[in-house]
Amino acid sequence: MPPPPRADAPAAPAAHHSQLIVGAGLAGLSAALHAPEAQLLEAAGHVGGKARSEVLGGFTFDVTGHWLHLRDPEMRALVLRCCGEEHFERVERKSRVWSHGVYTQYPFQSNTHGLPPEVVRDCVMGAIRAHERLTGLLAGRAALPPEEEPARFDEWVRLYFGDGIAERFMLPYNAKLWGVGAHELSGRWCQRFVPRPRLDEIVAGAVGCHQGGVGYNATFLYPKRGGIQSVAERLADAAGRARLRLGAPVVALSPRQRALTLAGGERLTYDRLVSTTHLTRLIDLCGDEAPAPVRAARALLRATDVTYLNVGVRGALGQPDHWVYVPEERWPMYRVGSFSNAMPSMAPPGCSSLYVELSDRARPLSAVLPEVVEGLVAMGMLASAEQVLFAEPRHIPEAYVIYDEHHAAARAALHAWLDEVGVRSVGRYGDWNYSSMEDALLDGRAAAAWLRAAP
Ligand SMILES: Cc1cc2nc3c(=O)[nH]c(=O)nc-3n(C[C@H](O)[C@H](O)[C@H](O)COP(=O)(O)OP(=O)(O)OC[C@H]3O[C@@H](n4cnc5c(N)ncnc54)[C@H](O)[C@@H]3O)c2cc1C
Repeated sequence: MPPPPRADAPAAPAAHHSQLIVGAGLAGLSAALHAPEAQLLEAAGHVGGKARSEVLGGFTFDVTGHWLHLRDPEMRALVLRCCGEEHFERVERKSRVWSHGVYTQYPFQSNTHGLPPEVVRDCVMGAIRAHERLTGLLAGRAALPPEEEPARFDEWVRLYFGDGIAERFMLPYNAKLWGVGAHELSGRWCQRFVPRPRLDEIVAGAVGCHQGGVGYNATFLYPKRGGIQSVAERLADAAGRARLRLGAPVVALSPRQRALTLAGGERLTYDRLVSTTHLTRLIDLCGDEAPAPVRAARALLRATDVTYLNVGVRGALGQPDHWVYVPEERWPMYRVGSFSNAMPSMAPPGCSSLYVELSDRARPLSAVLPEVVEGLVAMGMLASAEQVLFAEPRHIPEAYVIYDEHHAAARAALHAWLDEVGVRSVGRYGDWNYSSMEDALLDGRAAAAWLRAAP
């Protein structure tokens, strides 16, 4: 491939836009909705980014489960206004954990009832010992100050949940999900996403007093038709398609000249730029305009790919869940979910659909698939392998940002430099974080306020 043209190379006169947004995922679309003067550039031929859907043989698949939680009242009102309230169903989460051959309610830590007795004992005794230790560390304070919080995820889990819950679920599950050992992860990503029950709740869950919906995602919204991409499409309609250029990948950026280059060589200049591409790729687009310490910080940022299967199923599924966590190492998947259990229109009549997220990212599908199907049958999700109509592998490069020891400082260094050169990098990948669709929408709104504040 020829090298991409440099953004600072002399070329045809550039079109000028006061406000430019790169990327029409949810962050970029929200930025456009909130900044009516901005122009939007999207590399792909469609909007949505990770919040997109594909149709395969009459089935609609999202990029694995994409369940919408809207906590911010204004954002909720905006999304409902743009999409139409009747577009959504409010769904009560059905989510469980499958381990030791049995199902327990989600989250594992407050629902161990039903597991083999020695597993329940380890989890409860571990939680009691952790509680005693934490009480000593707190010494009367309501919470640990940030500098005393364990830096490593495995230490954080053992401190707050105890060794039993750590070893039976938290550590193996997260190692499968992130593709790196739990000791390599920092505790920073999980504070919001991992529910932290009290000791009495852990004990109640161990003896079978069900806790009800716990955590940030007890209910979610889901489109009645068209999968999650229908939300992005309606946001794009509301923002105005005339401002949106699809199939316009940015291949070089010169912050010095406030100019960018599209594939094909077209050059655009701007006053203010919001980018939602991966933070790492944004720095790469700047080439040697990014100072050496910035490039060194960029090299420290890591992310994990996600590999998953879209599975079309003949007939009904044997389990009602929207998603199931599979923490045990012996199975090659860490999560199995069903779109059609949440919304029947996602599969043709008489059929069902599954997504299977694979922890085994290296082995060929031909080796992994028989084990996946064996697992689905053991879970009672499928009655037999004959129900599988197709299993299509999909890959999302750099889907999960890894929160390791370098993450916070390296990310901060990149944002600091981008601030200096007048570029805002936002969204899940632009900010380089682990966050939800709503966070992307909120990031876009904040970025738009910055765009509009241009002198
Ligand atoms: C496997 C998985 C499951 C998830 N499940 C959920 C869930 O259940 N609920 C939930 O709330 N969230 C979920 N999320 C998170 C959610 O997908 C993201 O938070 C959100 O979609 C991020 O939107 P974004 O706009 O920040 O980034 P993206 O969706 O990545 O959008 C960035 C856009 O920029 C474009 N782009 C990139 N580079 C360029 C370039 N050089 N030039 C032009 N355009 C470019 C891309 O094509 C893309 O369209 C999940 C994420 C993953 C990976």
